[in-house]
Amino acid sequence: MEQILNNNARAVLEFLRGTHNHPTAMDVYEAVRQTRPRIGLATVYRILHSLAEYGLIRELEGFEGVRYDANTSRHDHAICTTCGALLDVPLDIVLSEESLQKAAQTTGLELSSHEVRIYGRCASCQERDKS
Ligand code: ZN
Ligand code: MN
Repeated sequence: MEQILNNNARAVLEFLRGTHNHPTAMDVYEAVRQTRPRIGLATVYRILHSLAEYGLIRELEGFEGVRYDANTSRHDHAICTTCGALLDVPLDIVLSEESLQKAAQTTGLELSSHEVRIYGRCASCQERDKS
């Protein structure tokens, strides 16, 4: 799949793979523009959409709009309700197979995967409030 990507798409994918902040489309645009000054915001949106369709990146609904994640393996996220930061949870939040299955059953869903989100105030927001 990656071999069919053009240079702009490759630059977007490389940027996303090198960051863990789950950037917005605007963040991606600002970063990629440094090395590819002729790229437009509409192009960045189109590329992000295609990369997500190919399964090379994931679109995440953040606190304030869509964020992008190049880590497509199953993992959970923590969201700061003050600044909107979207962070990876570096460990598995363990839920029993039984409770997952029960939850799926109540909605009639045939379970294939799950994700957990935790909410609160991030470390930098706590720090800022102290000073
Ligand atoms: Zn925060
Ligand atoms: Mn992530």
